Amino acid sequence: MRVILLGPPGCGKGTQAEIICKNFEIPHISTGDILRDNVKRGTEIGSRAKSFMDSGSLVPDEIIIGMIKDRFSEDDCKNGFLLDGFPRTIAQAEALDKLLKKMKIHIDYIINIDVPDENIINRISKRLSCSNCGDVYNLMFKKPKKEMVCDSCGFKLHQRDDDKEEVIRNRLEVYRKQTAPLIQYYNKKIMNVDGQQSINEVTKDILKILK
Ligand code: ADP
Ligand code: ADP
Ligand code: ZN
Repeated sequence: MRVILLGPPGCGKGTQAEIICKNFEIPHISTGDILRDNVKRGTEIGSRAKSFMDSGSLVPDEIIIGMIKDRFSEDDCKNGFLLDGFPRTIAQAEALDKLLKKMKIHIDYIINIDVPDENIINRISKRLSCSNCGDVYNLMFKKPKKEMVCDSCGFKLHQRDDDKEEVIRNRLEVYRKQTAPLIQYYNKKIMNVDGQQSINEVTKDILKILK
């Protein structure tokens, strides 16, 4: 099964992706996670991407498309994958179409998680992330068992640099201008899910679509 998760930053793509990927045993491909890993390891991609990420702008398409090509060539993608945070521009969607055609595969489901801006700012400003294993928590909606400690690996949780309010506002603007046009681009293939519901309810709605 091949799935794309669309939606604004903070709508819950990463949270739902974890659950769906476990359920269907497919890899979770998050361009944000791959980029953060590159920054952490100090790679060339990481050093080129960092300033864009810190300001909440998009990393140039050519870097992202190269990353996706490399990721698709790995063995675990053979039985499917879930894309989270990619594509994010029309140019990326066109590059993805070309790549899929070349690989003679297609996307089965495109799911858009819809959440209004007020909720997004509230969610992201309370998001806590684990820089060791990538797990995501929330001070209000998904508290870790032990304060500021990752349930999965025991590492200390932190707030991402780009999860500060001024950067969040820029990310929302970038989303409206550069990513929201994908909803038109994919048009009838998109299945909408109400992302204002609880994490469990959103999962239920997504699983109904995927079954
Ligand atoms: P995205 O990957 O789309 O940026 P995340 O999955 O990281 O979004 O979610 C953003 C924040 O909101 C996280 O702190 C997460 O725990 C929380 N969250 C995710 N889904 C919901 C939900 N349905 N209701 C409330 N909070 C949520
Ligand atoms: P969120 O879902 O909270 O917006 P992500 O982890 O998906 O966060 O992305 C974090 C940052 O990484 C983005 O603000 C952007 O700078 C960069 N990024 C991630 N994916 C892409 C992409 N497909 N194209 C361009 N930049 C990206
Ligand atoms: Zn962890």
